[in-house]
Amino acid sequence: MELHHGNLFWPTTVEKARSFPELTTNMTCDVLIIGGGMSGSIMARMLADYHINTVLIEKNTIGSGSTSANTGLLQFSNDAMLIDLIDRFGKEKAVYFYKLCLKAIDELDKYNATLKEKTDFKRAESLYFASNEHHVKKLKKEYDALIEHGFNADYLDSTAIENLYSFKAPAGIYTKAEAEVNPYKFALALASHAADLGVNIFEHTEVLSHQFHNKELIFQTEKGEIRTKHVIYATGYGTQEFAKTKGALLERTYTIATEPIDQFPGWHNQSLIWETDRPYYYLRTTPDRRILIGGLDATLNKKEKLEQQGQQLLNKLHELFPSIETSIAFEWSAIFGSTKDGLPYIGKHPKYDGVYFMLGYGGNGTVYSMLGAEILKDLILYGHHPAMDITRLKR
Ligand SMILES: Cc1cc2nc3c(=O)[nH]c(=O)nc-3n(C[C@H](O)[C@H](O)[C@H](O)COP(=O)(O)OP(=O)(O)OC[C@H]3O[C@@H](n4cnc5c(N)ncnc54)[C@H](O)[C@@H]3O)c2cc1C
Repeated sequence: MELHHGNLFWPTTVEKARSFPELTTNMTCDVLIIGGGMSGSIMARMLADYHINTVLIEKNTIGSGSTSANTGLLQFSNDAMLIDLIDRFGKEKAVYFYKLCLKAIDELDKYNATLKEKTDFKRAESLYFASNEHHVKKLKKEYDALIEHGFNADYLDSTAIENLYSFKAPAGIYTKAEAEVNPYKFALALASHAADLGVNIFEHTEVLSHQFHNKELIFQTEKGEIRTKHVIYATGYGTQEFAKTKGALLERTYTIATEPIDQFPGWHNQSLIWETDRPYYYLRTTPDRRILIGGLDATLNKKEKLEQQGQQLLNKLHELFPSIETSIAFEWSAIFGSTKDGLPYIGKHPKYDGVYFMLGYGGNGTVYSMLGAEILKDLILYGHHPAMDITRLKR
């Protein structure tokens, strides 16, 4: 599966990534992580804190999958609104899940503080605006639910938005608990730190086949075999090729990064921006003063020309910020995975003991990966996490 196509921005921000050897011998471990993207790297970093004998293998290089196409917005509000989750799971579970997402941003912040390399992690504010008048009622209901359950948020009416931004929108929710990051640097730095703390990491090492025996799971790679008690599949959207999850949906999405810009007039605090439409446009700025804008999600068989989609994204950017003059420096398309109910698939295989999946599908993938690492660490160590029911694979 070609996870991305085109001219990616983040890999150009790293001069020389740390490299790891290929596996050429047999090994045993307590936990094998398959996949060295954001999910695998966070998981490895967390397990290192618990002194668990962990091996991570990546078939290409660390962070080279969807992680390098990710736009790096870290938000606690999900593709599924809190009020939708309340309808689906009831107040207690839904609010608990939203609080876990909020906490996951703080946890990412804490991990970031332990890293040697700079990852451009920065706390950020976020505007979630109503794409049209019909969405205002639901957005206001969402705001009321956030306030009722103790989340900090401001409700902006159309005048307030016009005072802060150069575009018009009928209403918006403004929050201040978010963050932004260079996801490629972040995954590399987390993996590197995990390796320094004792995790064995191998690149260019692909799992080719497996056998699940009673208390031992055996994985074959080209030049070595790994025996482990637990395995975590952190294999991203490609997982759908060998272990299909019923509620998962893969689409194609598009992103551009502009040339650097001097100023961002009409862009309050350079906040993260997204909207209530589905699919939605989303925007952020970068430390080297570019704008990233993404969207235009479409079915996988609808392969649009990258240049056309890039131009459409640039037009949208100019529509929102007419006084910003810029052009496209990088444009890419990527496969994007979401789920029918907006929640990730994180948990135990329903049939095989010791087999876990960490699939942070959805626009909040990184936050879900952080939350997923916490859930799987607890499942491995204690057999239980209070959120395991919400994110379980069979639902
Ligand atoms: C365009 C775009 C924008 C996004 N924007 C955001 C955003 O703003 N914020 C956010 O939080 N999330 C965002 N996401 C989602 C985010 O990218 C994903 O959640 C995240 O990258 C998932 O990381 P991962 O580690 O699960 O997957 P990946 O990064 O794809 O890593 C999986 C790894 O597994 C490896 N692998 C697969 N099979 C094997 C095997 N058999 N043996 C060994 N290795 C294997 C692959 O090579 C790959 O490197 C975005 C995604 C896209 C595509």
